[in-house]
Amino acid sequence: MAEFDYDVLVIGAGPGGYVAAIRAAQLGLKTACAESRATLGGTCLNVGCIPSKTLLNASGLYHEAASGALAKHGVKLGSVELDLPALMADKNDAVKGLTGGIEYLFKKNKVDWLKGLATFTGAHTVEVGGKSVTAKNIVIATGSSVTPLPGVTVDNDGGVVVDSTGALALPAVPKNLVVIGGGVIGLELGSVWGRLGAKVTVVEFLDQILPGMDGDVRAEAAKIFKKQGFDIKTSTKVTGVSVKGKTASVTVEPAAGGEAQTLEADAVLVAIGRRPNTEGLGLDAIGLALNARGQIETDHDFATSVPGVWAIGDVIPGPMLAHKAEDEGVAVAENIAGLTGIVNHDVIPSVVYTHPEIAGVGLTEEAAKARGAVKVGKFPMMANSRAKAISDTDGFVKIIADAETDKVLGVWIIGAPAGTMIAQAAQAMEFGASSEDIAYTCHAHPTHSEAIKEAAMAVRGKPIHM
Ligand code: FAD
Ligand code: NAD
Repeated sequence: MAEFDYDVLVIGAGPGGYVAAIRAAQLGLKTACAESRATLGGTCLNVGCIPSKTLLNASGLYHEAASGALAKHGVKLGSVELDLPALMADKNDAVKGLTGGIEYLFKKNKVDWLKGLATFTGAHTVEVGGKSVTAKNIVIATGSSVTPLPGVTVDNDGGVVVDSTGALALPAVPKNLVVIGGGVIGLELGSVWGRLGAKVTVVEFLDQILPGMDGDVRAEAAKIFKKQGFDIKTSTKVTGVSVKGKTASVTVEPAAGGEAQTLEADAVLVAIGRRPNTEGLGLDAIGLALNARGQIETDHDFATSVPGVWAIGDVIPGPMLAHKAEDEGVAVAENIAGLTGIVNHDVIPSVVYTHPEIAGVGLTEEAAKARGAVKVGKFPMMANSRAKAISDTDGFVKIIADAETDKVLGVWIIGAPAGTMIAQAAQAMEFGASSEDIAYTCHAHPTHSEAIKEAAMAVRGKPIHM
């Protein structure tokens, strides 16, 4: 009889866990994946990336039609109506299709889905669904959950104060939506409801929205969102939220102290970050400690300090992004199989799927300057022929290169298709490109990507169309 039930047991079937399980099975390892949710795919497929992007798409279509913006392009519409139940059904279909797809992939690759909450009882043993299961290797991929705001009660079941999960399924378009937190979730879901007719107020504790992004990008993004009708209150803290019936009163005051103000809203979205899921995992039983931020630390191979126990995704340090979790999933499976699985954490793109999209990879100008001399090239979308042709000229491309070697250190883009454009920058950086390499790469005309080429030319002061 085999010493263990499985070669690999993955805990959590989000983008980190399901990918790790599939890759391990592909590599010939006997694999199981424990998941407590009713469907596979984790936060991303169930209540994250996928439903939010479906809503962003549908709300964008509605807004284009209802705002009269299409008339400029010669498209005249009669009356435009919002069918919110149909829009939500479209989102639910996308989630169902994709989560069901993971179940199919598990069957195809012979990954056993162990249904239930997994708890360690030993370094090679977990209790799941009332059964004890053993594995030679256990991968923790339990992801993250919403960070609560002390003193504020979230009620995603028809309540006024919701988190991202509730904001993906509001029963009606709020008149006034207050978003607490000017990060990615606040701006994406604020955009959804703003496009459908809500007046959106964003309350951000810091002096700028979108922490972690390049300073120029943060400033330009704030300008664009204000132009779209967002009321953005930076350097502002929420001191209390009270709910009476269907109305919330949000009390805010300057972060540095000062006069309080009350904002009335029929919906409040709390989006102040996410925290790693480790509760109930039984880490004490295996002597695995958390760092000061509640995360599980690993080495470069994603091994924890406990032999045979590995960790990936939102539960470990690094950006909380689905594609980072997925790449770590592939790498950890390869390392377990005795191959060399590597993730280059210096080149992880991030995208905010608003309109325009906002994307970046590598260092911000601020971080790059702290390390040494840099050259920066910038090119506005206003001078890009494709952006002009479609009258959508907000944004720019910014490339940061090492002043001495010309190696590209960071690329930041605001532009309608920035999320798609950033892949080119990530690949160039992965290949160790200089700005000159990008400047001398032929880019198709007329495309938004030409703005990347021109920004690369601007690093040495020589763009053509400016
Ligand atoms: P998760 O996806 O959180 O999956 C972990 C799974 O583990 C969960 O299903 C959970 O039920 C399960 N689990 C936890 N503990 C146990 C246990 N003890 N036993 C069994 N199962 C357990 N990222 C992007 O890159 N792009 C986006 O556009 C994007 N949009 C987002 C929008 C929203 C609204 C939110 C909330 C997040 C978004 N993210 C996005 C972030 C992305 O969802 C996460 O980074 C990603 O899901 C992390 O993957 P993971 O596998 O580490 O964890
Ligand atoms: P975030 O960290 O992006 O933003 C939270 C914001 O809330 C920050 O600007 C922070 O300064 C602010 N904040 C914190 N406490 C506050 C307070 N008390 N009052 C006012 N503001 C406060 O977090 P998020 O938007 O909740 O998203 C969580 C995670 O999910 C992010 O790490 C992100 O990577 C991931 N996500 C990614 C995408 C994407 O890739 N497109 C989309 C959604 C979520």
